[in-house]
Amino acid sequence: MRQVVMHGPGNVQVEDREDPKILEPTDAIIRLSATCICGSDLWPYRGAEPVDHQVMGHEYVGVVEEVGSEVRTIKVGDFVVGSFWASDNTCEICQAGYQAYCVHRVLMGTLGTQSERARIPLADGTLVATPGMPDASLIPSLLAASDVLGTGWFAAVAAEAGPGKTVAVVGDGAVGLLGILAARQLGAERIIAFSRHTDRQALAREFGATDIVEERGDHGVERVKELTAGLGAHSVIEAVGTQEAMMQAIHSTRAGGHVGFVGVSHDVAVPGDELFMAGVHLHGGPAPVRQYLPELIQLIWDRTIDPGKVFDLTLPLNRAAEGYQAMDKRTATKVLLTV
Ligand SMILES: [Zn+2]
Ligand SMILES: [Zn+2]
Repeated sequence: MRQVVMHGPGNVQVEDREDPKILEPTDAIIRLSATCICGSDLWPYRGAEPVDHQVMGHEYVGVVEEVGSEVRTIKVGDFVVGSFWASDNTCEICQAGYQAYCVHRVLMGTLGTQSERARIPLADGTLVATPGMPDASLIPSLLAASDVLGTGWFAAVAAEAGPGKTVAVVGDGAVGLLGILAARQLGAERIIAFSRHTDRQALAREFGATDIVEERGDHGVERVKELTAGLGAHSVIEAVGTQEAMMQAIHSTRAGGHVGFVGVSHDVAVPGDELFMAGVHLHGGPAPVRQYLPELIQLIWDRTIDPGKVFDLTLPLNRAAEGYQAMDKRTATKVLLTV
């Protein structure tokens, strides 16, 4: 099969690799219908994380081709969506809704899903079957549920977005944009998007943003304060992972408010005195996307939401290197790879 391998920073190749096999009786093998490149894949691509001949990709939708002897609920022929963490969905942590911390979790990025086929561990717990074979027009949105929508959704929940709340969103990548969509679905009254790119501002508004702030850092915080009678937002989503973004999120939050942080943290160090004086709730980390998949799949199936709009470039898997380049140069927000 064809599979994306990152040989080193900036060096992405699509290679012939052995087809995956069932290794554990709880595994399934899926044939990918589509996969995509994640903002987090850019950290190793840019040399900000070590990488050496690493298979890539952790977002996936596809059709089940084979199941292990202990798989009970997932069947051959099912169209399935799964999260970037494989999880049993039965341990105490999963049952509490934190499947990203499952005691048996497997990080899908270590197996790679930018490929024609993939082995999915803990298939019964990890995969959610759609109500039927999806129309081709639904595939981008179902793929978005695998990570960026689920992550944006968790961020909005962690920030306690809801009716009567003003939500601010730091980061206008796919996760931030879908955090806006999530906040809107959860009933937020007002949604302030930080963005300085006109195309992303337009999508932010389409997903539910009511106000756009182009300033960053302390100037961005000042603008949010101006828009909220000097108080700050009730709920703030942090979807970048840098020091500036994290502090912008904390400082944009009113006393007693909530920050939901899902940007993969890179050298973020929150000063204790500023945290102490902020008086805000902080919750975040790797999103337990699996918790939300049944609900998100239904919203997509009913065409209530269309998160697939975050994909603004579609390429065949064989041209993955061009997709990495486009995301690195910011000419694309998120790249879908057809398989
Ligand atoms: Zn991802
Ligand atoms: Zn578990």
